[in-house]
Amino acid sequence: MMALLEVEDLRVAYGKIEAVKGISFTVEAGEVVTLIGTNGAGKTTTLRTLSGLLKPLAGKITFEGQPLNGVGAHKIVSMGLAHSPEGRRIFPRLSIEENLQLGAFLRKDTDGIAADIRNAYDRFPILGERRRQAAGTLSGGEQQMLAMGRALMSRPKLLMLDEPSMGLSPIMMQKIMSTISELKAAGTTILLVEQNAQAALSLADHGHVMEIGNITLSGTGEELLHDESVRKAYLGED
Ligand code: ATP
Repeated sequence: MMALLEVEDLRVAYGKIEAVKGISFTVEAGEVVTLIGTNGAGKTTTLRTLSGLLKPLAGKITFEGQPLNGVGAHKIVSMGLAHSPEGRRIFPRLSIEENLQLGAFLRKDTDGIAADIRNAYDRFPILGERRRQAAGTLSGGEQQMLAMGRALMSRPKLLMLDEPSMGLSPIMMQKIMSTISELKAAGTTILLVEQNAQAALSLADHGHVMEIGNITLSGTGEELLHDESVRKAYLGED
């Protein structure tokens, strides 16, 4: 069976600096796949390339059998890839509801959009309670919920999340991780970039360890969680 997303020997550079040096991985429909690794490993660069925000130097990206190379960022959203970026990037002066509406910017089905906004409020009640407030008044964890809710507004076939737990309290992080589990249970396919390897591997079907632009180890979430080198390097054990 063809995977939903196939990445083959992907290379991405900023000028002369090669940030991604030839990585290959797949994401099957219904899976959660995680990319873990320290700062600067190339995880964000990979997601930005899949979204069409950066142009690959080489390699092949295929989504539902269609090549993504050379396809513009808007078209990629309309094909079903949504990206919740690092640092969340919500619009602080716009209301929560306006931020959600922006996630549906390519859709014209007004009724469907309204229904999906209600779904977002069911999933994240705090967003519904505050829907007229400026998004900048939300806490970090609530802004992360908004960023995820906004990405879901395009009804993606693949949801890419870049460090959703960044800067959050342990309790908020738990909440975000359980939301990701719920999305998975509802059948959402997710590509999750995380520095919190423990949390990410605990819920991922498959994981890949990235180090300075390469994938150095791959396995099921379970396998990586119990791998000795992963435990030493990423789970703080000696
Ligand atoms: P982080 O968790 O910090 O985002 P990461 O694994 O996502 O880490 P990237 O952000 O993809 O890593 O960065 C990979 C490499 O590319 C790093 O060496 C980084 O310094 C470099 N890099 C990232 N963005 C740029 C840029 N706009 N211009 C030049 N180099 C960049």
